[in-house]
Amino acid sequence: MSVDQAYFTDMEARIPHGKVRTRFAPSPTGYMHVGNLRTALYTWLIARGNDGTFILRIEDTDQGRLVDGAVDVIYRTLAECGLDHDEGPDVGGPVAPYIQSQRRDTYGKYAHRLVEMGHAYYCFCEKTESEEDSGEFGRAADPCRDLPAEEVRARLDAGLPYVIRQRIPDGGTTTFHDAIFGDITVENSTLDDQVLLKRDGLPTYNFANVIDDHLMGITHVVRGSEYLASAPKYNLLYEAFGWEVPTYVHCSPVMRDAQNKMSKRHGDPSYEDLKAQGYLTEAILNYVALLGWSPRGELAEQEIFSLPELVKAFDMTGISKSPAIFDRAKLDHFNAVYLRSLAPEDFHAAALPYIRQAVRGEQFDTAAIAALLQARCERLTDIPEKLDFFDALPDYDLEFFTNKKSKTNPDVCRDMLRAAIPALESLPEWSGDAIHDGLIALAEQLGVKNATLMWPVRIAAAGKLVTPGGAVEICHILGREETLCRLRLGLAKLEA
Ligand code: GLU
Repeated sequence: MSVDQAYFTDMEARIPHGKVRTRFAPSPTGYMHVGNLRTALYTWLIARGNDGTFILRIEDTDQGRLVDGAVDVIYRTLAECGLDHDEGPDVGGPVAPYIQSQRRDTYGKYAHRLVEMGHAYYCFCEKTESEEDSGEFGRAADPCRDLPAEEVRARLDAGLPYVIRQRIPDGGTTTFHDAIFGDITVENSTLDDQVLLKRDGLPTYNFANVIDDHLMGITHVVRGSEYLASAPKYNLLYEAFGWEVPTYVHCSPVMRDAQNKMSKRHGDPSYEDLKAQGYLTEAILNYVALLGWSPRGELAEQEIFSLPELVKAFDMTGISKSPAIFDRAKLDHFNAVYLRSLAPEDFHAAALPYIRQAVRGEQFDTAAIAALLQARCERLTDIPEKLDFFDALPDYDLEFFTNKKSKTNPDVCRDMLRAAIPALESLPEWSGDAIHDGLIALAEQLGVKNATLMWPVRIAAAGKLVTPGGAVEICHILGREETLCRLRLGLAKLEA
């Protein structure tokens, strides 16, 4: 099956040169795990930091693993994270198509070309997938490796199914270079004659990635270190075609703990899961950037980076060889920092759906509630349980009125509420300042510490020991009528 040389010449002519070109090449599994997101981010940062081009390529040749809507998850995640791509299935580009299943013919042509060049061969053996995967077959024993040309032709003419395998050189070594791991040399005898083109005519990942990275002019290949072991075979393919090998940047895995990689199977969160768990996109990205990369020089101590700051600071020499452990407490810390740094109206917008899970009453000022929460939550999902006292006063224990630091007990609190109710009733207006000033003046008049008065007011108003905000803020948000009603109930409890 000889292919016209003009086809290959045309394909070469389309390859853009002269600029950094990186690609994010996810398989559409329906799940963007943290390691994937990190790969996307580093890949994007290398492109943006070098005035380069960032390409999205969908690797869907494993038809058994296709999941409905999976490509949308990829688009959505990249768009939300601000990792915009310059070329890809949806935006097109000079080396389209960007979906591997639409490039099927191309792989076939290059695989056959490799056979013609002597670097690959047709194999008609029936091997099960597990035999292939385990690599447990001596390639010397493969009867197809050295079949006479006439025999190959006869079998092809007879329509026998075949795969195309890479012909690894018999002796010698192969060395490849990785930007993170340095030079790695392996004996060729340890490499298997991997399948390049499957019986169904679709390429394996191991073949498609080389063809696509070359034809798309990719200069930096960023991916997980699970591909390191195959990299010598990729090099041999590049060499066989006479192509320049791109810069490899293999990143160590993101781990759940010292032993285990993060995985969907074990319930580890995807980007979308983290969003649903109340983390902000910016905080997730910032945290993920530092999972396996550290800034250098004068930025070495800096932890908080916006995306534009990362573009300036990112340098692939700062990527670590060691696996990174996903630390939830650290992510919580980043999230809290990002929540606090939002403009009040942005925090209100982000918090509102969560406030509304607990507070349905339309009369309450949600912006004022948000203001109480902004410095007091690590995750947006912490919000509802903090606000469960607005819609209805919880049934609380009299013991709540006892607090050593505020010098209160039920007797003291009864006296305080008896005085506080008329004082609040007679306030000229129901503003935070008016409530504050009124209560402070009353404490002074009664000759007690402010806390001695504030404690029972807050307990009676909220019915909870721990509340976001103090007595003044809570009474203000509850409104005059509701506050007085709750304070009278508290007093009745204490008088009973
Ligand atoms: N499709 C591969 C994956 O999702 C990409 C590997 C690569 O970037 O080359 O793991």
